[in-house]
Amino acid sequence: MSKSSQNSDEIYDLICVGGGIMSSTLAVMVKLLNPLYKIAVFERLDAVGLESSEAWNNAGTGHSGFCELNYTPEQADGSIDITKAVNTLSQFERSKEFWSYLVKEGLIGDAERFIKSCPHHSWVTGQEDVEFLRKRYRALQRTPMFKSMQFSEDKQVLKKWFPLIMRERDEDEVMAATRMEMGTEVNYGALTQLYFDILKKEFNTPVILHTEVLSIKRQKDGNWKIGVRSRRDKKRSYLVAKHVFIGAGGDALPLLQKTGIPEKDGFGGFPVSGQWLICKNRALVNQHWAKVYSKEGPDAPPMSTPHLDTRYIEGRRELLFGPFAGFSSKFLKNGSYTDLFKSIKLGNIKSLLGAFWHNLDLSKYLISQVMMSPKDRVKELREFVKDAKIEDWELRIAGQRVQIIKKDKQQWGKLQFGTEVVHSKDGTITALLGASPGASTAVHIMLEVLSYVFPDQMDSIEWQQKLDEMIPFWNREVDTDEEQFKATQAFCSEMLKLDVSH
Ligand SMILES: Cc1cc2nc3c(=O)[nH]c(=O)nc-3n(C[C@H](O)[C@H](O)[C@H](O)COP(=O)(O)OP(=O)(O)OC[C@H]3O[C@@H](n4cnc5c(N)ncnc54)[C@H](O)[C@@H]3O)c2cc1C
Repeated sequence: MSKSSQNSDEIYDLICVGGGIMSSTLAVMVKLLNPLYKIAVFERLDAVGLESSEAWNNAGTGHSGFCELNYTPEQADGSIDITKAVNTLSQFERSKEFWSYLVKEGLIGDAERFIKSCPHHSWVTGQEDVEFLRKRYRALQRTPMFKSMQFSEDKQVLKKWFPLIMRERDEDEVMAATRMEMGTEVNYGALTQLYFDILKKEFNTPVILHTEVLSIKRQKDGNWKIGVRSRRDKKRSYLVAKHVFIGAGGDALPLLQKTGIPEKDGFGGFPVSGQWLICKNRALVNQHWAKVYSKEGPDAPPMSTPHLDTRYIEGRRELLFGPFAGFSSKFLKNGSYTDLFKSIKLGNIKSLLGAFWHNLDLSKYLISQVMMSPKDRVKELREFVKDAKIEDWELRIAGQRVQIIKKDKQQWGKLQFGTEVVHSKDGTITALLGASPGASTAVHIMLEVLSYVFPDQMDSIEWQQKLDEMIPFWNREVDTDEEQFKATQAFCSEMLKLDVSH
């Protein structure tokens, strides 16, 4: 690395901050579109994918709108709004298309290293929620992509779908579930590693580890000067880049603030940590093969929807329940307790105060979660596994999610649970804030990033032809051509070894 290099040979076309699923997805996509672009990726830790993208730090759900009840809210007139479910499915399919392309091209050897078929269920109890689920099912059935969804109130059927949950149930308990066999379980940490393997082997672009990006400053010529420091020998150096993507997970907000771009104003972050109960009893683990999502409780934020999930981590089947929310002022799991306080600036204090004032219920909910004893957590687990024993489960800390706070005319500030790409007007700085649905939709999010970073190239025939090849539905919704969508989906199932018999 050179000290403040200005030689055009040494100017990077793109510098990505962070070695998680987002930066790695972007770097691979850009290299495939133009192998000549000079890219560098910096990661502060000793390996890639150790923060939110690491398998134990997230739930590994390939979010497709199959099971997430908060993606299909009931409207005041009683109808179900399925927009978010349909959009999320479209976005996840883009990820599957891109991964299938990588397998077809021999860039990923074995898709089973990161993705597996795993049925997705929504499961509810009580008459009111059963009626909601039935309406949701009917609304989704009207679209071709959700046609294969099954709905049942029959306990014998539910026993087949998720026997562990159905143990010791009273015969008169009212419940229903839906099932999508097309669901997936994804190890985003393993996928991140595979992406970085491609960058190193195919494009001679190894990630630069244990190196922290400390500053991002605009130069007079419009390029960006990036200050980095080795966490090993503390040596500082500087690089110059035409474009910078801040894919630093929870640390994206503080880095965005350092760029000085006006678009940063008003953004703040609210960190929410997660915890899982992990099953230690192998006999129980082997009795459950599904992702079962239920409804979040009153006052609980959408990302706290409880679920019982099969996972495949390091070649082994696992079972987790959660998430339980927690509060930590860190923006990264391996971050500093001062992160939240340092992110409070004149430009965002109004948004933070507004968001805090209008989300007192969330604060109350977080306090109640933080106060939970092991017994309280098992009590929640017993809503799913009636006879769960405390000794069969252990608590594990998941990743940090920094929820977005942004300006709002009426309320000063509001809390947002999705993700948002913030970019400078000229597209030379892009940053990804927020967390959900996150990793599942990384390919879709990076298509948006590309449209800001390389607008002219994205309009060129050359890039568009390549994108058609890599991600057939990159620029259109999956419901625009049912036949082609089905054919593409079948191709993806074959490439990714997903169970097409379902
Ligand atoms: C509890 C929980 C459950 C989740 N469940 C799901 C799920 O089921 N499905 C799903 O799709 N998504 C899920 N997500 C979201 C998903 O994990 C994230 O969207 C995704 O991992 C974010 O990837 P990233 O690359 O942006 O961030 P990260 O994986 O956090 O990577 C950011 C990287 O940047 C590095 N970094 C930070 N600052 C610097 C710096 N200054 N210099 C150099 N490097 C830096 C960090 O060390 C880190 O490695 C979940 C998240 C959580 C927390």
